[in-house]
Amino acid sequence: MSDLLTTVPAARAFCEAARARGAAVGLVPTMGALHDGHRSLLRQSLAQNDVTVVSIFVNPLQFGAGEDLEAYPRGFENDLRICAGEGAAAVFAPSEAEMYPQPPVTSLDFGGLSASLEGACRPGHLAGVGLVVAKLFAIVGACRAYFGEKDWQQLAVVRRLADDLSLPVDVVGCPTVRQPDGVALSSRNAYLGADERAAAGVLHRCLLAGAALIEAGERASAVVEAAMASVLAAEPLLGRVDYARVVDAATLARREPLRGELRLMVAAHLGGTRLIDNLGATVPPP
Ligand code: AMP
Repeated sequence: MSDLLTTVPAARAFCEAARARGAAVGLVPTMGALHDGHRSLLRQSLAQNDVTVVSIFVNPLQFGAGEDLEAYPRGFENDLRICAGEGAAAVFAPSEAEMYPQPPVTSLDFGGLSASLEGACRPGHLAGVGLVVAKLFAIVGACRAYFGEKDWQQLAVVRRLADDLSLPVDVVGCPTVRQPDGVALSSRNAYLGADERAAAGVLHRCLLAGAALIEAGERASAVVEAAMASVLAAEPLLGRVDYARVVDAATLARREPLRGELRLMVAAHLGGTRLIDNLGATVPPP
Protein backbone atom coordinates (compact mmCIF):
# COMPACT_ATOMS: atom_id res chain seq x y z
CA MET A 1 0.00 0.00 0.00
CA SER A 2 1.04 3.60 -0.54
CA ASP A 3 0.97 5.76 2.61
CA LEU A 4 -2.14 7.94 2.56
CA LEU A 5 -1.29 11.51 3.61
CA THR A 6 -4.18 13.90 4.06
CA THR A 7 -2.60 16.83 5.90
CA VAL A 8 0.14 19.27 4.95
CA PRO A 9 2.23 18.47 8.06
CA ALA A 10 1.96 14.73 7.36
CA ALA A 11 3.06 15.22 3.74
CA ARG A 12 5.93 17.47 4.80
CA ALA A 13 7.08 14.98 7.46
CA PHE A 14 6.93 12.06 5.03
CA CYS A 15 8.96 13.89 2.38
CA GLU A 16 11.45 15.36 4.86
CA ALA A 17 12.10 11.88 6.26
CA ALA A 18 12.66 10.55 2.72
CA ARG A 19 15.10 13.36 1.89
CA ALA A 20 16.89 12.89 5.24
CA ARG A 21 17.76 9.34 4.27
CA GLY A 22 19.06 10.60 0.94
CA ALA A 23 16.08 9.54 -1.18
CA ALA A 24 15.23 11.46 -4.35
CA VAL A 25 11.55 12.40 -4.22
CA GLY A 26 9.43 12.58 -7.40
CA LEU A 27 6.04 14.29 -7.43
CA VAL A 28 3.13 13.48 -9.76
CA PRO A 29 0.38 16.10 -9.34
CA THR A 30 -3.09 14.93 -10.44
CA MET A 31 -6.78 15.60 -9.94
CA GLY A 32 -7.49 11.87 -9.58
CA ALA A 33 -9.75 9.67 -11.77
CA LEU A 34 -6.44 8.13 -12.77
CA HIS A 35 -5.95 6.57 -16.20
CA ASP A 36 -3.03 5.30 -18.28
CA GLY A 37 -1.86 8.88 -18.97
CA HIS A 38 -1.37 9.45 -15.25
CA ARG A 39 0.14 5.97 -14.98
CA SER A 40 2.83 6.91 -17.52
CA LEU A 41 3.84 9.93 -15.39
CA LEU A 42 3.91 7.73 -12.33
CA ARG A 43 6.09 5.15 -14.05
CA GLN A 44 8.54 7.79 -15.23
CA SER A 45 8.81 9.13 -11.69
CA LEU A 46 9.28 5.63 -10.28
CA ALA A 47 12.08 5.03 -12.78
CA GLN A 48 13.91 8.26 -11.92
CA ASN A 49 13.39 8.66 -8.16
CA ASP A 50 13.63 6.60 -4.98
CA VAL A 51 10.28 7.76 -3.65
CA THR A 52 7.24 8.84 -5.67
CA VAL A 53 4.42 10.91 -4.19
CA VAL A 54 1.18 11.21 -6.17
CA SER A 55 -1.02 14.13 -5.22
CA ILE A 56 -4.76 13.86 -5.77
CA PHE A 57 -6.58 17.15 -5.38
CA VAL A 58 -9.41 18.58 -7.46
CA ASN A 59 -8.26 22.18 -7.24
CA PRO A 60 -11.26 24.52 -7.14
CA LEU A 61 -9.08 27.52 -8.04
CA GLN A 62 -8.52 26.23 -11.56
CA PHE A 63 -12.22 25.85 -12.36
CA GLY A 64 -14.17 28.86 -13.58
CA ALA A 65 -17.77 29.67 -12.67
CA GLY A 66 -20.08 27.34 -14.58
CA GLU A 67 -17.33 24.78 -15.24
CA ASP A 68 -17.40 21.12 -14.16
CA LEU A 69 -15.93 21.32 -10.62
CA GLU A 70 -18.90 19.49 -9.03
CA ALA A 71 -19.22 16.92 -11.81
CA TYR A 72 -15.48 16.29 -12.20
CA PRO A 73 -14.94 12.47 -12.19
CA ARG A 74 -13.80 11.10 -8.85
CA GLY A 75 -12.78 7.53 -8.05
CA PHE A 76 -10.63 7.66 -4.98
CA GLU A 77 -10.56 3.96 -4.06
CA ASN A 78 -9.55 2.99 -7.58
CA ASP A 79 -6.93 5.76 -7.63
CA LEU A 80 -5.40 4.38 -4.42
CA ARG A 81 -5.33 0.90 -5.94
CA ILE A 82 -3.54 2.19 -9.04
CA CYS A 83 -0.96 4.13 -6.99
CA ALA A 84 -0.29 1.14 -4.74
CA GLY A 85 -0.16 -1.25 -7.69
CA GLU A 86 2.40 0.90 -9.47
CA GLY A 87 4.51 1.32 -6.34
CA ALA A 88 3.94 4.94 -5.33
CA ALA A 89 5.36 5.44 -1.83
CA ALA A 90 2.62 7.88 -0.85
CA VAL A 91 -0.59 9.53 -1.99
CA PHE A 92 -1.14 13.09 -0.80
CA ALA A 93 -4.88 13.72 -0.89
CA PRO A 94 -5.69 16.84 1.13
CA SER A 95 -9.17 18.28 1.60
CA GLU A 96 -9.97 21.70 0.22
CA ALA A 97 -9.87 23.15 3.75
CA GLU A 98 -6.44 21.63 4.29
CA MET A 99 -5.02 23.16 1.10
CA TYR A 100 -6.79 26.49 1.46
CA PRO A 101 -7.45 27.18 5.15
CA GLN A 102 -8.02 30.78 4.05
CA PRO A 103 -8.84 32.04 0.57
CA PRO A 104 -5.45 32.75 -1.02
CA VAL A 105 -4.74 36.37 -1.92
CA THR A 106 -1.51 35.57 -3.75
CA SER A 107 -2.04 35.48 -7.47
CA LEU A 108 0.29 34.44 -10.23
CA ASP A 109 0.37 36.02 -13.65
CA PHE A 110 2.22 34.29 -16.45
CA GLY A 111 2.19 37.22 -18.86
CA GLY A 112 2.15 36.23 -22.52
CA LEU A 113 2.29 32.53 -21.62
CA SER A 114 -1.25 32.67 -20.28
CA ALA A 115 -2.68 35.40 -22.50
CA SER A 116 -4.02 33.14 -25.26
CA LEU A 117 -5.40 29.63 -25.80
CA GLU A 118 -6.48 28.12 -22.43
CA GLY A 119 -5.61 31.40 -20.70
CA ALA A 120 -8.05 33.28 -22.91
CA CYS A 121 -10.81 30.66 -22.92
CA ARG A 122 -10.63 29.88 -19.19
CA PRO A 123 -9.77 33.10 -17.35
CA GLY A 124 -8.07 32.35 -14.03
CA HIS A 125 -7.47 28.70 -14.88
CA LEU A 126 -3.69 28.89 -15.32
CA ALA A 127 -3.30 31.18 -12.31
CA GLY A 128 -5.18 28.55 -10.28
CA VAL A 129 -2.95 25.79 -11.63
CA GLY A 130 0.15 27.85 -10.85
CA LEU A 131 -0.88 28.47 -7.27
CA VAL A 132 -1.67 24.85 -6.44
CA VAL A 133 1.49 23.62 -8.14
CA ALA A 134 3.59 26.17 -6.22
CA LYS A 135 1.98 24.95 -2.98
CA LEU A 136 2.61 21.30 -3.87
CA PHE A 137 6.24 22.06 -4.69
CA ALA A 138 6.61 23.85 -1.34
CA ILE A 139 4.96 21.02 0.62
CA VAL A 140 6.61 18.04 -1.06
CA GLY A 141 10.05 19.48 -1.84
CA ALA A 142 10.41 17.06 -4.75
CA CYS A 143 13.56 17.11 -6.84
CA ARG A 144 11.53 16.21 -9.93
CA ALA A 145 7.87 16.77 -10.84
CA TYR A 146 6.04 15.14 -13.73
CA PHE A 147 3.50 16.82 -16.02
CA GLY A 148 1.83 15.62 -19.22
CA GLU A 149 2.42 17.23 -22.59
CA LYS A 150 -1.34 16.70 -23.01
CA ASP A 151 -1.71 20.02 -21.15
CA TRP A 152 1.01 21.81 -23.11
CA GLN A 153 0.27 25.33 -21.93
CA GLN A 154 0.09 24.15 -18.31
CA LEU A 155 3.50 22.49 -18.75
CA ALA A 156 4.93 25.72 -20.20
CA VAL A 157 3.55 27.75 -17.30
CA VAL A 158 4.83 25.31 -14.66
CA ARG A 159 8.31 25.24 -16.21
CA ARG A 160 8.38 29.02 -16.14
CA LEU A 161 7.09 29.13 -12.56
CA ALA A 162 9.97 26.89 -11.46
CA ASP A 163 12.51 28.98 -13.45
CA ASP A 164 11.26 32.40 -12.36
CA LEU A 165 11.12 31.42 -8.67
CA SER A 166 14.38 29.40 -8.84
CA LEU A 167 12.54 26.43 -7.37
CA PRO A 168 14.86 23.46 -6.83
CA VAL A 169 12.70 21.12 -8.87
CA ASP A 170 13.20 19.67 -12.32
CA VAL A 171 9.92 19.87 -14.27
CA VAL A 172 9.71 16.79 -16.48
CA GLY A 173 7.29 16.76 -19.45
CA CYS A 174 5.87 13.35 -20.42
CA PRO A 175 4.44 12.39 -23.84
CA THR A 176 0.68 12.24 -24.33
CA VAL A 177 -0.80 8.76 -24.00
CA ARG A 178 -3.43 8.09 -26.66
CA GLN A 179 -6.00 5.45 -27.44
CA PRO A 180 -5.64 3.51 -30.70
CA ASP A 181 -7.83 6.01 -32.61
CA GLY A 182 -5.57 8.86 -31.49
CA VAL A 183 -7.84 10.22 -28.74
CA ALA A 184 -5.72 11.53 -25.85
CA LEU A 185 -6.64 9.90 -22.56
CA SER A 186 -8.39 12.35 -20.27
CA SER A 187 -10.47 12.05 -17.13
CA ARG A 188 -13.09 14.14 -18.97
CA ASN A 189 -13.49 11.47 -21.68
CA ALA A 190 -15.75 9.76 -19.12
CA TYR A 191 -18.37 12.43 -19.92
CA LEU A 192 -18.58 11.37 -23.58
CA GLY A 193 -21.47 9.30 -24.89
CA ALA A 194 -20.63 6.46 -27.29
CA ASP A 195 -21.24 8.59 -30.42
CA GLU A 196 -19.23 11.45 -29.00
CA ARG A 197 -16.38 9.14 -28.05
CA ALA A 198 -16.34 7.80 -31.61
CA ALA A 199 -16.20 11.38 -32.94
CA ALA A 200 -13.47 12.55 -30.53
CA GLY A 201 -10.67 11.31 -32.81
CA VAL A 202 -11.28 14.37 -34.98
CA LEU A 203 -9.11 16.48 -32.66
CA HIS A 204 -6.07 14.30 -33.25
CA ARG A 205 -6.82 14.11 -36.99
CA CYS A 206 -6.92 17.90 -37.17
CA LEU A 207 -3.51 18.07 -35.46
CA LEU A 208 -2.09 15.46 -37.82
CA ALA A 209 -3.41 17.38 -40.84
CA GLY A 210 -1.72 20.58 -39.63
CA ALA A 211 1.54 18.80 -38.89
CA ALA A 212 1.51 17.10 -42.30
CA LEU A 213 1.18 20.46 -44.06
CA ILE A 214 4.14 21.87 -42.13
CA GLU A 215 6.11 18.73 -42.91
CA ALA A 216 5.27 19.24 -46.60
CA GLY A 217 6.76 22.76 -46.49
CA GLU A 218 3.83 25.05 -45.63
CA ARG A 219 5.10 28.09 -43.69
CA ALA A 220 1.97 30.25 -43.33
CA SER A 221 0.09 29.69 -40.09
CA ALA A 222 -3.21 30.81 -41.63
CA VAL A 223 -3.02 28.01 -44.21
CA VAL A 224 -2.18 25.40 -41.56
CA GLU A 225 -4.97 26.66 -39.30
CA ALA A 226 -7.50 26.66 -42.15
CA ALA A 227 -6.65 23.01 -42.83
CA MET A 228 -7.09 22.18 -39.16
CA ALA A 229 -10.44 23.99 -39.09
CA SER A 230 -11.72 22.16 -42.14
CA VAL A 231 -10.94 18.76 -40.58
CA LEU A 232 -12.89 19.82 -37.49
CA ALA A 233 -15.78 21.17 -39.57
CA ALA A 234 -16.21 17.76 -41.24
CA GLU A 235 -17.27 16.19 -37.93
CA PRO A 236 -20.99 16.87 -37.52
CA LEU A 237 -21.07 16.09 -33.79
CA LEU A 238 -18.38 18.64 -32.96
CA GLY A 239 -19.69 21.83 -31.37
CA ARG A 240 -17.89 25.10 -30.75
CA VAL A 241 -14.19 25.20 -31.58
CA ASP A 242 -12.38 27.41 -29.05
CA TYR A 243 -9.17 27.41 -31.05
CA ALA A 244 -7.22 25.41 -33.65
CA ARG A 245 -3.86 27.10 -33.90
CA VAL A 246 -0.16 26.66 -34.53
CA VAL A 247 2.18 28.53 -32.18
CA ASP A 248 5.79 28.61 -31.06
CA ALA A 249 6.24 25.60 -28.76
CA ALA A 250 8.07 27.54 -26.03
CA THR A 251 6.50 31.02 -26.05
CA LEU A 252 3.06 30.01 -27.39
CA ALA A 253 3.20 33.13 -29.56
CA ARG A 254 2.54 33.29 -33.30
CA ARG A 255 5.54 32.44 -35.49
CA GLU A 256 5.25 33.97 -38.95
CA PRO A 257 6.58 32.47 -41.15
CA LEU A 258 6.49 29.17 -39.28
CA ARG A 259 9.92 28.13 -38.04
CA GLY A 260 11.67 26.19 -35.29
CA GLU A 261 9.80 24.15 -32.70
CA LEU A 262 6.06 24.56 -33.11
CA ARG A 263 2.97 23.26 -31.34
CA LEU A 264 -0.40 22.66 -32.93
CA MET A 265 -3.08 23.34 -30.33
CA VAL A 266 -6.80 22.55 -30.38
CA ALA A 267 -9.74 22.93 -28.00
CA ALA A 268 -13.32 22.09 -28.96
CA HIS A 269 -16.64 21.06 -27.48
CA LEU A 270 -18.25 17.67 -28.06
CA GLY A 271 -21.73 17.68 -26.57
CA GLY A 272 -21.26 19.15 -23.11
CA THR A 273 -17.58 18.16 -22.91
CA ARG A 274 -14.66 20.44 -23.67
CA LEU A 275 -11.63 18.58 -25.02
CA ILE A 276 -8.07 19.81 -25.64
CA ASP A 277 -5.14 18.27 -27.46
CA ASN A 278 -1.84 19.30 -29.06
CA LEU A 279 1.00 17.99 -31.19
CA GLY A 280 4.55 19.05 -31.97
CA ALA A 281 5.96 19.98 -35.40
CA THR A 282 9.45 21.12 -36.32
CA VAL A 283 10.63 23.31 -39.17
CA PRO A 284 14.29 22.42 -39.65
CA PRO A 285 16.73 25.33 -40.08
CA PRO A 286 17.33 26.17 -43.76
P1 AMP B 1 -5.16 15.90 -14.40
O1 AMP B 1 -5.51 14.86 -13.39
O2 AMP B 1 -6.06 15.91 -15.59
O3 AMP B 1 -4.96 17.27 -13.79
O4 AMP B 1 -3.75 15.48 -14.99
C1 AMP B 1 -2.66 15.26 -14.15
C2 AMP B 1 -1.42 15.18 -15.00
O5 AMP B 1 -1.55 14.09 -15.91
C3 AMP B 1 -1.17 16.43 -15.83
O6 AMP B 1 0.21 16.74 -15.83
C4 AMP B 1 -1.66 16.03 -17.20
O7 AMP B 1 -1.03 16.74 -18.25
C5 AMP B 1 -1.27 14.56 -17.22
N1 AMP B 1 -2.06 13.84 -18.23
C6 AMP B 1 -3.41 13.85 -18.37
N2 AMP B 1 -3.77 13.12 -19.44
C7 AMP B 1 -2.62 12.64 -19.99
C8 AMP B 1 -2.32 11.84 -21.13
N3 AMP B 1 -3.27 11.36 -21.93
N4 AMP B 1 -1.03 11.56 -21.39
C9 AMP B 1 -0.03 12.03 -20.59
N5 AMP B 1 -0.25 12.80 -19.50
C10 AMP B 1 -1.52 13.10 -19.20
